[in-house]
Amino acid sequence: MKLAWFCIPAAGHTNPTLEVVRTLTEAGHHVRYYSFQAFREKLEAVGAEVVTIDDYCAEMKLGPDAGVRIAKDTAFATKVLADTTLAVDEALLDDLRAYGPEVIVADSMAMWGKLLAIKLGVPFVCSTTTFAFNQHSAKVMKQSLWDLVKLLLGMPKINRELKRLQDKGYAVKSILDVVQNDNDTNTVVYTSDYFQPCADTFSDKYAFVGPSVREAAPLPRTSDRKRVYISMGTVNNDMPALYRTCIAALADRYELILSVGKSVDPASLGELPPHVTAAQHVDQMAVLADCDAFLTHCGMNSVSEALYCGVPLVLFPQTAEQQGVANRTAELGAGVLLGRASADSIRAAVDKVITDSSFREEAAKIARSFREAGGAPKAAEAILRAAQ
Ligand code: UDP
Repeated sequence: MKLAWFCIPAAGHTNPTLEVVRTLTEAGHHVRYYSFQAFREKLEAVGAEVVTIDDYCAEMKLGPDAGVRIAKDTAFATKVLADTTLAVDEALLDDLRAYGPEVIVADSMAMWGKLLAIKLGVPFVCSTTTFAFNQHSAKVMKQSLWDLVKLLLGMPKINRELKRLQDKGYAVKSILDVVQNDNDTNTVVYTSDYFQPCADTFSDKYAFVGPSVREAAPLPRTSDRKRVYISMGTVNNDMPALYRTCIAALADRYELILSVGKSVDPASLGELPPHVTAAQHVDQMAVLADCDAFLTHCGMNSVSEALYCGVPLVLFPQTAEQQGVANRTAELGAGVLLGRASADSIRAAVDKVITDSSFREEAAKIARSFREAGGAPKAAEAILRAAQ
């Protein structure tokens, strides 16, 4: 079978799809993946034919801060989306028609994939690397009132952008058509139905397949201290004050591993106390494979990876989406929310998830649900079924 796949230029959205692509190509299917130069190697390694669309993606032309702004500013995100969709439409419609895919898969944020599928009349599957989002899960995820207000304030701008899409023949009525998962669309979600908020409100068109996690050998221990890992992810991580506070709060009693990201020079944190290491990037799965607590920004991948390893969490979300992941983790009892990043509160939160074994037990329970969710074979099956 011939498949076309679309994604946004983000590792967090591309990585979970890799094993699914591998499963499909190993079974003899052809996957043409419209992606970006940065992911070519990874995608080719799992057997995909890669077509890079860096030139058409509005996000790629913006500065390094674009990711942060897109996550926080819905009107701006919609503009980026509309620009990209129109550019991709112009450049790829003929190419895609000539290729003749029998099914199109697109990340829930790569709206151009969904819109091209509608235009070509080809079956469509949505690939969702965050929680699936409908009016029920939105409530549990406690999308804050402030975010709603910002969304409404941005509406005139958003509607102007949507109008540009409508003029090109795309039936997009509202921003909800873009961000909401609906019960008529075949959808693959990379989490378990246990971890997904309100899983029972989604139709049987949803396949909750669990996170796609690469296992790694654990980083060897160098002391008998409990190990605490700290990372704010790969996008919004320029937070040297937070890293310093963590060191001040925790270095006297724990082994600390900090991943500080590309914008912070580890040397700028000063001389590190014993049992503390700081690097711009670490092998996160190797650290989590043997770890006692993780202070995280609550990116879906980081949280899934930690829970997969049964590691309890200190939850310090920075965006609405991360807040949703944090709330769900706290609600199930696998982590505690950190309100203020003072030394005292960081220390109290880390002590709590380490000394109260219920957090580790709940993390292990979620881990079991992930391992039993069906993984890449179940995702591949759902995609092939949608094509029939
Ligand atoms: N990651 C890593 N090493 C690091 C920091 C992050 O390998 O030092 C990986 C991490 O394992 C995860 C991804 O980067 O797979 C971060 O994705 P997430 O969704 O958690 O957050 P984002 O970076 O998209 O905000």
